[in-house]
Amino acid sequence: MDRYERVPIQEESREERVRKFALIDEPYSLEDAVLEGQRCLQCAMPYCIQGCPITQDCRGYNILVGERDFDGAARLTLRENPLATVLCKTCYHFCEDDCIMTGRGVPIAIRHLKRAALDYGKSDLLYVPSKKKSERIAIIGAGPAGLMAAWDLAIRGHPVTVFEHEPFLGGQINTIPRYHLDPDDLDTDLARWKNLDVTFVVGKRAGVDFTPKSLLEEGYEAVLVSIGASKARELGIPGEQLPGVYHALPFLLAMNKRPEGIFGRKGRKIVVIGAGDVALDAARSARRLTSGGEVQLVYRRGPEDMKATEEEKTGGQIEGVRYVFYRSPKAILGSEHVEGLVVERTEHGPPDAKGRRTLVSVPNSEETIPCDMVIVAVGEVADLSGFDKEYDFKFASMGWPEGKKEGWMTDVEGVFATGGRSVVHAMGAGERAAAAIDAYLAKKHGRAPEPRPDPFGGSEPPKMPSGYGGATWTP
Ligand SMILES: Cc1cc2nc3c(=O)[nH]c(=O)nc-3n(C[C@H](O)[C@H](O)[C@H](O)COP(=O)(O)OP(=O)(O)OC[C@H]3O[C@@H](n4cnc5c(N)ncnc54)[C@H](O)[C@@H]3O)c2cc1C
Repeated sequence: MDRYERVPIQEESREERVRKFALIDEPYSLEDAVLEGQRCLQCAMPYCIQGCPITQDCRGYNILVGERDFDGAARLTLRENPLATVLCKTCYHFCEDDCIMTGRGVPIAIRHLKRAALDYGKSDLLYVPSKKKSERIAIIGAGPAGLMAAWDLAIRGHPVTVFEHEPFLGGQINTIPRYHLDPDDLDTDLARWKNLDVTFVVGKRAGVDFTPKSLLEEGYEAVLVSIGASKARELGIPGEQLPGVYHALPFLLAMNKRPEGIFGRKGRKIVVIGAGDVALDAARSARRLTSGGEVQLVYRRGPEDMKATEEEKTGGQIEGVRYVFYRSPKAILGSEHVEGLVVERTEHGPPDAKGRRTLVSVPNSEETIPCDMVIVAVGEVADLSGFDKEYDFKFASMGWPEGKKEGWMTDVEGVFATGGRSVVHAMGAGERAAAAIDAYLAKKHGRAPEPRPDPFGGSEPPKMPSGYGGATWTP
């Protein structure tokens, strides 16, 4: 085996990918996983762990897989990661970006090894809360940030109630297309939580049914606002309200929740506006809607400015998404329904005062792209209707609200707020908010803050193979 080459991950062919709406990556066979695990160099300074927002001990599960201890690898994975079934398919694998092998060959397929650990190891473990504490905590929003915080606080022994305005849990995880994630993966993760004191209240909206302050008045001692950014940013051009214009999140949710309702239509011409991961997911999902049709992704800048990951951009290319660069949307045409998108050409202008490249319109360059569906994917903002100004949130660049004080506390004592730009970043934020809430409550009640206990109720760390260096880096 060449240590610098990755054991290949099999993928569906282009034809199969767009014919169905299902996972495109095949899992490793057990033997392939062992070979790939053995490639890990077991670095003394594990940049992979350092690069992970939840400091998952990936070096540890790599060696366990390489030694065929899949049970140990599953346990080690689940010890820090209560959404591991989701993450082993969807994580943007920041660990792999930081893997030292990247400089010498191809990084270890850490995300895929996590999946192998759960596939071949005993992964139906149950989490165990530590000694019960009396302080109740409320969490608003059941996305990955809220779920991670709920898990962390419940493991510490707190009774937690999670309020969610949708009828389902998981937040934006529900919009991740089925070619990245199986529909029951989140339920598989949550099944391990059944002994934890976490109550989910769905269909209740903060700002309408209650507020963070009213929850404090009801007796919750701390509240975490983890509501993400779920309101579509609008283009603000004529025609945006026409039938046939969708915003990306409701479109992707519909694709996942009721694909039979929109699946199987032939001959459509779909235009997606945007160039981030969400735009690519919308375009790639739309390709699966358009047997014999056409999907174009329109972006006002060039390929080098696209924010989407390489994985998404390449996926779009393989699946036949046509990229149309340097076109800025001006209006959506149609009387009863969308008929076309008017765009204007753009080009780079002189650098601005800070030396950044500017973009200017090309005069008299308007053209119409005929289409019968437009999907707008130009970002999201938080929906804070019904929230008082006194929380004085700050907003992350991708739109979710955060507390300004240490540990993300807001200006209202006991109310915290956070979120994240990927599933694992949101989980990392939830984990840190949980630690801050626990420390806040410990101080309030005269206790010393403690680290999160072992979530399986044990006191011993997992048994590692000989030669494993142990943690040499502390977050
Ligand atoms: C299409 C798409 C694909 C993505 N793909 C990936 C991927 O492959 N890998 C990856 O790592 N990341 C991906 N992401 C990003 C990732 O999903 C988000 O970064 C993450 O979900 C953010 O977590 P969060 O908990 O901060 O917010 P959210 O996931 O948005 O969760 C917030 C929750 O709060 C609820 N809520 C909102 N307002 C209220 C209110 N007033 N009252 C009560 N509840 C409320 C919402 O319904 C939601 O459930 C993707 C995102 C999208 C949109």
